[in-house]
Amino acid sequence: MKAIRRFTVRALIPESLTSLTALAANLRWSWHEPTQRLFDEIAPDVWRESDHDPISGLGLVTPERLAELAADADFVGRADALHADLRRYLQEPRWYQGLADPKPQTIAYFSPEFGIAAALPQYSGGLGILAGDHLKSASDLGVPLVGVGLLYRSGYFAQTITNDGWQQESYPVQDPDGLPVTVLREPDGTPVTVTLALPDDRSLSARVWIAEVGRVPLLLLDTDIPENVADLRGVTDRLYGGGGEHRLLQELLLGIGGVRAIKQWSELTDHALPQVYHSNEGHAGFLGLERISDLVGNGLSFDEALQLVRGGTVFTTHTPVPAGIDRFDREVITRYFSGDLLPGVAAPDVLALGDETANGGSADVFNLAIMGLRLAQRANGVSRLHGEVSRAMFRGLWPGFDVSDVPITSITNGVHAPSWTDPSLVDLAVDRWGTTDTSRADWSDPSLSDAELWSRKHGMRERLVADVRRRIADGYRSQNPQAVLPSWIDELLDPEVLTIGFARRVPSYKRLTLMLRDPDRLRAILLDPERPVQIVVAGKAHPADDDGKRLIQHLVRFAQDPELRSRIVFLPDYGIGMAKTLYPGCDVWLNNPLRPLEACGTSGMKAALNGALNLSILDGWWNEYADGENGWVIPSADGAADDEERDALEATALYEILEHQLVPRFYEREDDGLPQRWMQMVRHTISTLSEPLSADRMVREYTERMYLPAAAMERELNASDQQRARELAAYKQRVREAWPQLAVAHVESGGVDAVPQVGDVLRLRAYVQLGSLSPEDVTVEVVCGVPGTGGELLDIRTQPLEQQQSPSTSRPEHTLEYAGTLPLDRAGGFGYTVRIVPRHELLLTPAELGLVAVADQ
Ligand SMILES: *Cc1c(COP(=O)(O)O)cnc(C)c1O
Repeated sequence: MKAIRRFTVRALIPESLTSLTALAANLRWSWHEPTQRLFDEIAPDVWRESDHDPISGLGLVTPERLAELAADADFVGRADALHADLRRYLQEPRWYQGLADPKPQTIAYFSPEFGIAAALPQYSGGLGILAGDHLKSASDLGVPLVGVGLLYRSGYFAQTITNDGWQQESYPVQDPDGLPVTVLREPDGTPVTVTLALPDDRSLSARVWIAEVGRVPLLLLDTDIPENVADLRGVTDRLYGGGGEHRLLQELLLGIGGVRAIKQWSELTDHALPQVYHSNEGHAGFLGLERISDLVGNGLSFDEALQLVRGGTVFTTHTPVPAGIDRFDREVITRYFSGDLLPGVAAPDVLALGDETANGGSADVFNLAIMGLRLAQRANGVSRLHGEVSRAMFRGLWPGFDVSDVPITSITNGVHAPSWTDPSLVDLAVDRWGTTDTSRADWSDPSLSDAELWSRKHGMRERLVADVRRRIADGYRSQNPQAVLPSWIDELLDPEVLTIGFARRVPSYKRLTLMLRDPDRLRAILLDPERPVQIVVAGKAHPADDDGKRLIQHLVRFAQDPELRSRIVFLPDYGIGMAKTLYPGCDVWLNNPLRPLEACGTSGMKAALNGALNLSILDGWWNEYADGENGWVIPSADGAADDEERDALEATALYEILEHQLVPRFYEREDDGLPQRWMQMVRHTISTLSEPLSADRMVREYTERMYLPAAAMERELNASDQQRARELAAYKQRVREAWPQLAVAHVESGGVDAVPQVGDVLRLRAYVQLGSLSPEDVTVEVVCGVPGTGGELLDIRTQPLEQQQSPSTSRPEHTLEYAGTLPLDRAGGFGYTVRIVPRHELLLTPAELGLVAVADQ
């Protein structure tokens, strides 16, 4: 293949329109409706063609049109006013600035993908969109984040569907010069590069692009530069494109290269170095090793450096599905870390951090999620249920502790409302209540009539129908270049019909084709002459996942039936641009994963913000927010004998809800033709869910529960020449060495009758051996709760016992005596045990070291 030299010519913008250039250069336009309207005015067709991207859009506008606008004083005035508004947005104090000091000046947020706008296609699905929403809300709240990721030449992939329903991938190459990014440069103009030493005297370099996401800079590393040998230029070719070493190189670059890029950025732009590092999933986990390497270079031991790094690191786990967790052969890790990659960090240290054997895994494997947990003092899952699932999934790392002691909390995901709420709902809120914040509006206010809200929803459905027809026509043309466009395309879907959306990536646990279990039953639901239903489906299967592609094919073929095709449509190439019309256009959002494999799921949240009702398995976020008035719960057949039976039961439940509850409710019309009960549910959904499902709520939670405490810990560990980090490392080592000698030798109880009653007080006395440790090093405590069937305690509480200064004479030799009381304040099953756990003020929880000595039962 001949190499094509490609570049993008940027438009020459007249002097009086420089505000446009400034507005286009900051991705804030992607969630700022007034700025989008301004660009739309320039040339509506161009705007649509460029997928609403002002950078490439401006390049397509004719010089005549630009000259015309430059001479239009009104237009120029509005552009200047929007530019002034942007400058104010970038500088004014916001929520974070009102928080008490001390607080971190910089927080780094690492993610392998970022979904910010259709114009910057650097995402595959939920993880990336979430990262994008996190940055946008951080910007709106004034949280001083800096994002770090990779710039993939071809992003994920573009999906087309052949006539027989098979997914085809293509990898359009993006020219960064046509993207809303700029190169980070030295003062003399040379592009900044970061370099990683690889085995066999090779090295990998990357340049650093910056995307401005409102107030948040996003640094994106790119290896496609002349400094690299040919095969290494391709390291950042595709997102999740390769396995094995290709993936490892991407992750080394993201973690290690990312920290190096931040150091240069901070120096060049006068920003403080981050005090807190947040790793969005395990892929970026190597960032901790680069920081350890720096600290070792400054004279700390590996263990001391580890304490400091852990203190300031937050790790978010995103999936209970094993395929979502990166694992490598230990041999490969050894090879990469035996050279000059990270001075001061030896391969065995790295291997120990990613060893999964304690969690029941393989001895040959290095696990990035497990390294992520070991390198971060604070960790979380992404919904309450996923927090529970994660604690159970990783409990082997904290042996001897109850599941509820496992130090992984949860922060439920949220979505960035200004990006995902339909402009017509925002307009309504502005007209009625004078706010663009739909979560502050009172949607149950009777002065807002059902008719008015219904007509907005109708408009949203109409725009979806138009968008579907346009996309299907485009797809048809590209598959059948010679053919005339068939007339059925103009009859696809109907804006009067109950519309259900189902769009997501297509891993098997999401069960794209559950709705097809009983094709005749679905057909009858769709084609009901009085109460028809239409379904819009979209989603990409991973290029290597033929099973997923077969699911898509199954669905596409079903939808090709001439009778059905106006009622069920598969839209190729699911992405942000499509999603923005899809969520608002739906009345119902369907989600039927295999519980509990959907960690959170955010598409249903975006639908809810737009007044769609959810119809979902009780998984992820829906497990904590379904309230009977905001949608329908598809019961999970947890007791089913196998997957086959489970699918059958859950599909039947799905059909029944549709047939007997959901569809009738939508078509139950009053004299005015409106579905009054339905509208009540819509109002209830928008009013009660908009705030809790917002990414603002999520980012505030991360800030208050994770970033601020992590920064305080980092400050403490760093103070007086890292004195406390050294102390903590020494404490941990001493405790680990001494632990095998610790024991709860004997426990005595008294104070309750043979038949204990509420109000009785249990008196406890425990004799313990602490070996070489002293009483200050540990807590001796009673753990009580309700005995579960598996011999463990549920719903546990702990209470410390006091060391007795004048021990009783019956004390066994070489033991210390502890005592305390425990009021029995609840009726029902009761169990307790006495245990010894490490105690140090810099430990976040007693489980942190995974050390516990429990009384023999
Ligand atoms: C929200 C979103 C997703 C993630 O949806 P889930 O429900 O979390 O699977 C994926 N892709 C796009 C384009 C989205 O907007």
